[in-house]
Amino acid sequence: MVKEAIPPTSAQASSADQPKPGVHPSGNLAVKCIKCKELLYGRDWEKNLKVCPRCNYHFKLTAQERIDLLADPGSFVEMDVDIISVDPLHFVSRSEVYADKLEEKRQDTGMNEAVVVGHITVEGLPLALAVMDFRFMGGSMGSVVGEKITDVIEFGIERGIPVLISSVSGGARMQEGLYSLMQMAKTSAALAKLGEAKIPTDPTTGGVTASFAMLGDITLAEPGALVSFTGPRVIEQFMHIKLPEGVVNSEFALQHGMIDAVVHRRELRHTLARLLHLYSHNRNM
Ligand SMILES: [Zn+2]
Repeated sequence: MVKEAIPPTSAQASSADQPKPGVHPSGNLAVKCIKCKELLYGRDWEKNLKVCPRCNYHFKLTAQERIDLLADPGSFVEMDVDIISVDPLHFVSRSEVYADKLEEKRQDTGMNEAVVVGHITVEGLPLALAVMDFRFMGGSMGSVVGEKITDVIEFGIERGIPVLISSVSGGARMQEGLYSLMQMAKTSAALAKLGEAKIPTDPTTGGVTASFAMLGDITLAEPGALVSFTGPRVIEQFMHIKLPEGVVNSEFALQHGMIDAVVHRRELRHTLARLLHLYSHNRNM
């Protein structure tokens, strides 16, 4: 359990809360910060875009929240709504059937897959985007995630518009075996044809880091996001060492040239708009 939420009473839940930019009212009265353990008032937390005002911890956003954070209101048009995953290997682990797990995640999240793709405008400028959602099997990359990301990249190429990939992922989806790993080559090949931007958010690891999450022309990350190929726990177990604090976060990645900037969630939309202006200006020259 990562978030301790206190559910509202029915009277409080029906109060007419207006949605704040980028974040849907969760109905939580209070949320405990995962990092500093501060008890945050739910509405302030949402108003602050789910960032802890005390320690700056950036809570995960759902794909829809991320889109609302970045897009001009009402500008989002979703693509590939009907593509859904199959179970190519008839995979079963720990008596859990992959096909059942997929169905369960669809019910839980209301999403078809771990990524949403489409196009938006940001300050009036067009942008194609793929946004991953950690709630759907840890944002893992199966065939459909790879297919949808490739599709949106090709859409960007056809229309001559930039593509943003907001990644949050544990890596490749092991339940699809080689089909999943093939997505690394497929998405990377598509990206080679295109200029685009990236926002790896917390966490971005594994086969996703090793393919599309790091191949952008510009890579931005939120503060404190876990950005690495291998997660710290696995490194520590394998190497029998204790890693120093913060060696796999976005600040470390910035210091070592893996990413271009660490941007606070509050500044993401504006930063993106500036980059898009720059891009369209250069294109028109
Ligand atoms: Zn905190």
